[in-house]
Amino acid sequence: MQSEVNENTRIVVLDEHTANRIAAGEVVERPASVVKELVENSLDAGATQVTISIEQGGKELIKVTDNGIGMTREDAILSLQRHATSKIRCAADLEAIRTLGFRGEALPSIASVSLLEMITKHESQPAGVRLEVEAGTIVNLESVGAPQGTTIAVRKLFFNTPARLKFLKSAQTEFGHIAECIGWFAMAWPAVGFRLLHGGREVFYSPATGQRINAVVAVMGKDIAKQLVEVSYETSGVKVEGFVSNPSLTRINRRDQIFFVNGRPIRSKIIAHALDYAYRGLLPSGRNPVAILFLEIPPELVDVNVHPAKSEVKFSNEQEVHTAVHRAVNAALMSGAAAPTISENAGRFTGSVSVSGKKADDTEKLFTPWLKDADQQHTQETDLSAFQEALRRRREEALSSISAADEGIWQKGAGVPVEESPVPEADFVVPRTVALTGIRVIGQARNTYIVAECDDGLLVIDQHVAHERVLYDRLLKSDTERGAVVQRLVTPMTISLSARESAIVRQRLDQLRQAGFELEEFGRDTFIVRGAPPQLKPSEAEMILRDIITELVELSVERHLLVRPDQVLITTACKMAIKAGEKLDEREMKRLVEDLLKCENPFVCPHGRPIIVSLSNWELDRKFKRT
Ligand code: ADP
Ligand code: MG
Repeated sequence: MQSEVNENTRIVVLDEHTANRIAAGEVVERPASVVKELVENSLDAGATQVTISIEQGGKELIKVTDNGIGMTREDAILSLQRHATSKIRCAADLEAIRTLGFRGEALPSIASVSLLEMITKHESQPAGVRLEVEAGTIVNLESVGAPQGTTIAVRKLFFNTPARLKFLKSAQTEFGHIAECIGWFAMAWPAVGFRLLHGGREVFYSPATGQRINAVVAVMGKDIAKQLVEVSYETSGVKVEGFVSNPSLTRINRRDQIFFVNGRPIRSKIIAHALDYAYRGLLPSGRNPVAILFLEIPPELVDVNVHPAKSEVKFSNEQEVHTAVHRAVNAALMSGAAAPTISENAGRFTGSVSVSGKKADDTEKLFTPWLKDADQQHTQETDLSAFQEALRRRREEALSSISAADEGIWQKGAGVPVEESPVPEADFVVPRTVALTGIRVIGQARNTYIVAECDDGLLVIDQHVAHERVLYDRLLKSDTERGAVVQRLVTPMTISLSARESAIVRQRLDQLRQAGFELEEFGRDTFIVRGAPPQLKPSEAEMILRDIITELVELSVERHLLVRPDQVLITTACKMAIKAGEKLDEREMKRLVEDLLKCENPFVCPHGRPIIVSLSNWELDRKFKRT
């Protein structure tokens, strides 16, 4: 029998061009992946200024210019070869990667699917070099005068891979991905200046102040930044820094949870789970916190070589990472949640975040597509300075041991969130697990908190937010039984408003009516008030109505059209609720607690603030060493 070797089934070693194209399939998914790789290289080269110029969402041009160390002529040529890297020398180096790149694949991969031009000058060289590469082949090489640093221009991405090209989305969408990526880098590298241009127009720049909050403001916008609480925590093996949203700012998805490990943006189930775990009971179901977390972990404990685009990592100390993130977020929230903002002005921003990113307004649209959908936005203005103050105090106290409560929650290798924790809650957590049964009011503390006990432990209830929740729920219900809550005024009153105020009132007449205020337009910028909520004395009605209108105007100035549809109800509930500092008698307290228990969510007020803080019997006994 004659053996015939079929040419098609023989094993051959692929030529370099083909190998690069295959690698490109993994590394270069879309223009944003090119931007990510180029910017990583700039950062690895020690750049302090990186400018990214984009045309047509990166489909026509992606140009990244840096002032890093640059490359010599030899290195420039080598850099285009597969597995050519200056960052590691041998496999052992993979154990402790300190740079963003290490695979030596990015440049050759990108070059294999585009027209690439590189101009670079190494600090040691008198002149620079310019290379032109077409689909991976160097077609031109010459000396040029150039400043120190590197410019890489990638044109016509995927011109020779039509299947990839076909999958690209609109220029705007692709640019959105790029902008998001630059935003991440800007937050992770606050000392580096980033400039992003699209079609020649500057759409983003980060101020390079070295202060992370400034970068966060530049990226996320001031409104979001105001609602963030600073995270800062360190154990022997893990350092966690960054920002998380106070419970009033939530999202329907996890897009705004951004995690960095050693400066590298990554996805991580462990970090996400630890974050959720810290927010347990604080958020309405289906809502997710916003989080920008930066973890520093000794590089030998992180395997970054588990994903071709380096967007996932593997921790060898998973449990430690989980515990650190949980504690870090916990501590931040605790300090934030403890900041008393109960006053007439509760919920009005008075903080002082400096907006160093002048372009914040512009970029806000860019980086926060969710802002378009007011429904998705749960907002509350928060006094950031109070948070920061509380946080500072907290730090000074040195973190109290949160006990072993959070140990063992992240089961090594499990990869999925563990359902309910078998261990008790940390101190501040809203008592989802403390059943609200057998409640007995004990008394009032500081004329502000109702202290009560229940079968499972002790409860401290914030009287203002509790009442706010009760009133808000009632107003919402009245929507279905319209008309029931308006008290007709014997003598209707007239109020005259500014043009802006009346425009807003006109838009929200229905909601005002739902809140119990019946208004009718009467000539220019004047309204007749015919009815008011029955809980209000007519003498109070005008003042409260004016407060509500003022707040609506302020909110809409700040947020344009982003005011929640139920804002009138929230504000009304807030204005009519019992204030902190008001003395309540036993009957009033009992009634309030009873009413609160009837609410669907007695734990979180409509603004998102916690209503009940608990101390379970178990914790109490443990604290007194009875267990
Ligand atoms: P990696 O980053 O994984 O090493 P790349 O293909 O991204 O691989 O880059 C190859 C090499 O080219 C890098 O190791 C680096 O030495 C050099 N290089 C790439 N971009 C730059 C830059 N902007 N400045 C200086 N050197 C660069
Ligand atoms: Mg690289």
